[in-house]
Order: sequence, then structure tokens, then C-alpha cells
Amino acid sequence: MEGYKPFGVPMRELESVVMSLEEYEALRLADYENLTHEEAAKKMNISRPTFTRLYDKARKNVAKAFVEGKAIVIRGGTFIAGDYWYRCNDCHETIISATPEESCDKCNSDDIRRIDKDDGNGENQPSE
Ligand SMILES: [Zn+2]
Repeated sequence: MEGYKPFGVPMRELESVVMSLEEYEALRLADYENLTHEEAAKKMNISRPTFTRLYDKARKNVAKAFVEGKAIVIRGGTFIAGDYWYRCNDCHETIISATPEESCDKCNSDDIRRIDKDDGNGENQPSE
């Protein structure tokens, strides 16, 4: 999943809101996994104020896209710890690690993919 696109708007007319992976992760942890900001910040290895800032930004971006009918493009932003980011294809957990990982922390699936690096097509370059 690299983003969302509203139904019924041709791609060429579509404007998009760019969201960083960190913003996406903040939103996922707080609103999907129902973690407290404290817990979520700890999970992402960032301070609580940084988490809250990311989370606010994420919500504003989603609201803007939703209200204005824009697509949401998720791409690497400033990687907080410069670590390896993976997404589990089975349980959708994001794995943030200082070392390369081969399996999911949560469900042990080895069906994980790297999400902080482009796959060679040059479209997913970090913006900063
Ligand atoms: Zn998993």
C-alpha cells in the first residue's frame, strides 16, 4: 500500500497530499492499534511531543485528502532513527529495527517487505 486514491476522479486530475511513513505509522499506532501516545512514541523510539506532532500532521493530511478529494501518497520522510523499516504482509505490523530483519516481531511471518527504501524505480525517494 503506497497510498489512497479517491473513487471517481481521473488520475490526471487528481491532486495529492504527501504523507510521510512516520505520519502514517503514528496514525496507525494511535487510531488502528489503539495505543496511547506514550506507548506509540516508545514503539517508534521518539519523544512524546514528536509523536504528537506527527500524529496531528497525519490527521490533518488525512482530513484534507478526505474533504478535498485528494489522493494520499505515502513516502519516506525524515527517517527518525535511520533504521530499517518493514511492513508485515500478514498482520500489517510495522517493524522498525536497527538491524536487517527477516521476520515479523509480532506474528513471526517471514512475509515482510522493506518500506523505507525505493525498489529501484526511483519513485519512492525520501523527500528530505
Ligand atoms: Zn506479522
